[in-house]
Amino acid sequence: MRSWVEVSLGQIRANYRAVRKVVGSEDEVMAVVKADAYRHGAPEVSRALEAEGATWLAVSNVEEGVYLRRQGVRARILVMADFLPEERAGLEEFDLTPVIHSLDDLPAARVPYHLKIDSGMGRLGTRASAEEIARAVQAVPANLEGLMTHFASSGNYESRQTDDQLVHFEGVLSGLRAAGLTPHYIHASGTIPVAYGRKAAWWNLVRPGHAIYGYVSPARGSAPRRQLAVKPALSWKATVLAVKDVEAGSLIGYGGIHRATRPM
Ligand SMILES: *Cc1c(COP(=O)(O)O)cnc(C)c1O
Repeated sequence: MRSWVEVSLGQIRANYRAVRKVVGSEDEVMAVVKADAYRHGAPEVSRALEAEGATWLAVSNVEEGVYLRRQGVRARILVMADFLPEERAGLEEFDLTPVIHSLDDLPAARVPYHLKIDSGMGRLGTRASAEEIARAVQAVPANLEGLMTHFASSGNYESRQTDDQLVHFEGVLSGLRAAGLTPHYIHASGTIPVAYGRKAAWWNLVRPGHAIYGYVSPARGSAPRRQLAVKPALSWKATVLAVKDVEAGSLIGYGGIHRATRPM
């Protein structure tokens, strides 16, 4: 074979355990396996995580969730992005948990759902007030199982955007609690707030994606020390095509980009 990738499911499991260790046993870890587990192979990765005790996984869309169910994945699966009207039946049939992004979609909710708040990223999620949300949630029988948001700049410690988003999200959460609503799961954090220990953003569930595969994006500004140690699970290999001996000072390649510092 000329070129191939190898994925270590053992390393995926070790990365999951590393996240668990940082987060502690009180909080839930929902591993993100969207986009074919960041192209590491969603069924294999999901089964490895289940063997490690994972009870929640997250995907982007209904199609990804149905595929995992058909491959025998039993964990709870959160469908994080929106779904099209014709995909609604699939959610129920395959026991997937939807994220609702707009109060207009609430009346059609049939199964337990998570509600996404747009706390300042400006993408998916509702910007309605806590009062409006409480009224809409109380008008439907389906259970508000989770309340969530997503950060736009969690790796940028020079920006106040994450703090501002937290204030918005906390405001909605306390407004809902005041109205008697107590969603079981509260979540906001992907890899970065976990890796750099922004505990105020963890609540009781975190949604790590790239950490599971062995990466932590570098932070900007004066970030706290990284708490999470993970290693890439994917290696890219190729068969060596040619080997030759060169003298010290030899130039190699376009533009002489490499100069041999010794006989090599
Ligand atoms: C992709 C995604 C995650 C995981 O993000 P990472 O930075 O890879 O950890 C978490 N939450 C949502 C809503 C996402 O779309």
